[in-house]
Amino acid sequence: MTGTALNLLRRVFGYPFFRGDQEAVVAHLLAGGDALVLMPTGGGKSLCYQIPALLRPGLAVVVSPLIALMRDQVAALRQLGIAAAALHSNLAPGEAGAVFRQVDEGALNLLYVSPERLLTPYTLEWLSRRSLALLAIDEAHCVSQWGHDFRADYLGLGILKERFPGVPRVALTATADPPTRLEIIKRLRLDEARVFVGGFDRPNIRYRITIKNQPHDQLHAFLRAEHAGNAGIVYRLTRKSVEETASWLMKRGLRALPYHAGLDPELRQKHQDRFLNEEGIVMVATIAFGMGIDKPDVRFVAHLDLPKSVESYYQETGRAGRDGLPADAFMTYGMDDVVLLRRFIENSQAEEEFRRIEHHKLEALLGLCESVECRRGILLRHLGETMEAPCGNCDTCLEPIPTWDGTEPVRMALSCIYRTGQRFGVHYLVDVLRGQKTERVLSFQHHTLQVFGMGADRSAAAWRSVFRQLVARGLATVDVTGFGGLGLAEACRPVLRGERSVLLRLDPDEPKPGRERRIRRERGFETAEADEPLMRALKATRRHLAKEQQVAPFIIFQDATLQGMIDSRPETLTEMERIPGVGSRKLERYGEIFLGVLRTGQPYPS
Ligand code: ADP
Ligand code: ZN
Repeated sequence: MTGTALNLLRRVFGYPFFRGDQEAVVAHLLAGGDALVLMPTGGGKSLCYQIPALLRPGLAVVVSPLIALMRDQVAALRQLGIAAAALHSNLAPGEAGAVFRQVDEGALNLLYVSPERLLTPYTLEWLSRRSLALLAIDEAHCVSQWGHDFRADYLGLGILKERFPGVPRVALTATADPPTRLEIIKRLRLDEARVFVGGFDRPNIRYRITIKNQPHDQLHAFLRAEHAGNAGIVYRLTRKSVEETASWLMKRGLRALPYHAGLDPELRQKHQDRFLNEEGIVMVATIAFGMGIDKPDVRFVAHLDLPKSVESYYQETGRAGRDGLPADAFMTYGMDDVVLLRRFIENSQAEEEFRRIEHHKLEALLGLCESVECRRGILLRHLGETMEAPCGNCDTCLEPIPTWDGTEPVRMALSCIYRTGQRFGVHYLVDVLRGQKTERVLSFQHHTLQVFGMGADRSAAAWRSVFRQLVARGLATVDVTGFGGLGLAEACRPVLRGERSVLLRLDPDEPKPGRERRIRRERGFETAEADEPLMRALKATRRHLAKEQQVAPFIIFQDATLQGMIDSRPETLTEMERIPGVGSRKLERYGEIFLGVLRTGQPYPS
């Protein structure tokens, strides 16, 4: 049975092997079982149902929450020569009728449908008279009322169990946490489903978290050094900061676009389309931008503000590098973020219990930010996995962060907070410690305190780092209802009494510029210099074909496939077919064209 599946994988999709749990899921569905598939973004969930859809008799119905997602999936399948269509509320008049007819004629293999459309009495009735190969529920975490992708229509999908008895059902998601998993099983009535839990590691993503100084300059340096011309996402917390960052980048000549819920829907859609269909666009967005971004070649995700939790960080950074090529997760964070987020939580209308959970989540996130250990190890531990050894592909692994005994300065800082009355913010406290006779300091008579000027031998930045770490570790509190004044936390007592010492991280300096190209080359972001013109010609060809058919370039061939052509320089169709991502249909349609580009070095049409 799975021998046929493997043949199909090779012939139609052009991939030599199954990955991870794919083969097991396919076999289970082919045997008629139900399944819940948990796989990280980029893990290859689609193939888990697409292959059984082709091998089982009848129509496969795939529930998907977003039109953009359906559109990309359908376009990608059609490129492979597979008959697929979508049914949702945004079809032009007549289009839906055409889809219904295709199904009635048995001409379709896969039908993507939105939940609200599927759950109409008419569609249910109509489908129950068809033979179905399987029912797939994509982005299944949308049934969870606690997640921010919640879709009320998903709640109704439980009835599929009795409406289509005997049809295997598979739910798929990249959300890892156990409560969501249980909720999916319960709401979708997948009690008998076999659960496949893939590893959640994304080894191709390099994690990096640095201290926020000048976020725009830091981002710009990062982009220039490692991602010139690459597509990526920059997350910001508010609409206003999205606009600011987008125009800042545009002024410096980058192809940046804003995306947030306050934009006119039409413009927002246009920006999303451009991000998907053009190359090298930097999308600056709030978290309103996320689900349904199936673009495989997002090379980086940058957070200029703290995300809400470790889970959000994992989900958001997970949008980078779906194609498996090297990708970056870059974040800057500082004390102001912590104050801002705490204030958000405190000022929310939510119940006490909920706010307490949110504060805990923030603390876990701060633990990740302040850690001197392997970031990946912490992330995976959070998702319930363990890692044998440090990963070697995160900032703390690549450039270990030194620690120092900060007990003395920590006690000075705590005493400064206490002596000034537990109501001043970091900047003021640093002034007092460094002995700055500012107007404010004088007006409060704080130049007469014993702590005044006690820390003059340390830079303001070094002191800010100490205060930040105090707050991040819960040794000091922040008054979030007022102006961010610092107070003493219960946990600081043993430190003040000299019973406990405190190890602090030595915040590293910004990386020096000048190593740009070396990094880009080393990590494979950029083709070897000699191959650059050829890569440009291949990409221009891809762009031309994509434009002709009005699909995104990656639907024609992904970057990894183009790189494969450069690496192995096929001269015949047979050799071309061996390149991962070149299935029989694409070989037939594009094989000669790309062979020509490889031979002449000139883009098509010349
Ligand atoms: P997910 O939905 O889990 O995020 P996709 O189904 O979109 O992931 O697949 C992610 C990427 O991996 C796609 O570019 C897909 O073509 C590729 N892929 C999936 N399965 C395989 C495989 N067995 N071998 C090689 N590439 C694969
Ligand atoms: Zn690591």
